[in-house]
Amino acid sequence: MLIEPFAGETVGSVYRRLATRNAVPMGELWTTIRHARPRLPLRTTPELVPRLVEELADLPPGFFYGRRSDRLFVRCIHTNWRHSNCPTCAPLPSAVTKCRRCTAGEPVEVRTRIGAVCARHRRWHYAGADRDLARSADFVRAERCLTGTLWERGIGPDTGELELATTLIRAGDLRQEDESHRPALECHYPEAVRLVALTTETWAERFLTNTNVGPIQVAALVEAAVNAVTGGTSHDVDAVRASFRAEGREAVIGLDRPVRFRYGRSSGLDELGRRILKFAPRVRAILLRHTDARKPPARRPRPSSRRAQR
Ligand SMILES: [Zn+2]
Ligand SMILES: [Zn+2]
Repeated sequence: MLIEPFAGETVGSVYRRLATRNAVPMGELWTTIRHARPRLPLRTTPELVPRLVEELADLPPGFFYGRRSDRLFVRCIHTNWRHSNCPTCAPLPSAVTKCRRCTAGEPVEVRTRIGAVCARHRRWHYAGADRDLARSADFVRAERCLTGTLWERGIGPDTGELELATTLIRAGDLRQEDESHRPALECHYPEAVRLVALTTETWAERFLTNTNVGPIQVAALVEAAVNAVTGGTSHDVDAVRASFRAEGREAVIGLDRPVRFRYGRSSGLDELGRRILKFAPRVRAILLRHTDARKPPARRPRPSSRRAQR
């Protein structure tokens, strides 16, 4: 018996559902495969034989190669170093669990242009979760920003920036010290997405790449940005944009601007800023990661040539 595949479904997800549908334990199915291919490892690893899984599931060849529209944008030589979903260089995003209402209750993993929120069912589906959303309008807006603006900057749910943003937002809130990333992201998703969006805009990129900008200035920027997205208004967000400028050899921070509304201080770093300062180099590296240029991969078989390589 076959399964109905979802767009962008992963090899592992198709394999698992195929085994379940046919009431065959996954290990047993793997043993059968290994009879024909004795060089495969003992451990069940269908990811090693995507072509074979395509055949077993009666999927069109190249199914697991994915769709271009699902690829995360990268900067590469083929588009003159602008961000694009170049069919040669752009990778598929990491696997994400799909909304259970969309899959009629089945656990399904896909690598497509989605984040953590199902807008249709107003559900949180990140990392196997399946919960109703309370502030659903904020979450749906964040999801749209992640799969739109951020995606086109090369930022996906698991490329590191959202995890960093969640850590930074929580650095301002001492009450939630021992939460792990996944539940923390569920609490702070709208703010985390806003923080990533703000701190990866062109002016921020220019500020963070400027060699005259030091760790204290990085911490000042991030502190102001965290304050603006968590407690501020759109006016405060604009003030952050206007306050941190780095042009050529000059790095200018407009400290007279009302970016420190949370503590009402006008100079120096506040408590949050001092905490951010401790991981300023990492902050800088992660916020600039999406600007890295990508070399074309040495070898990536195209769907048309895959059958020949079997
Ligand atoms: Zn390319
Ligand atoms: Zn759904």
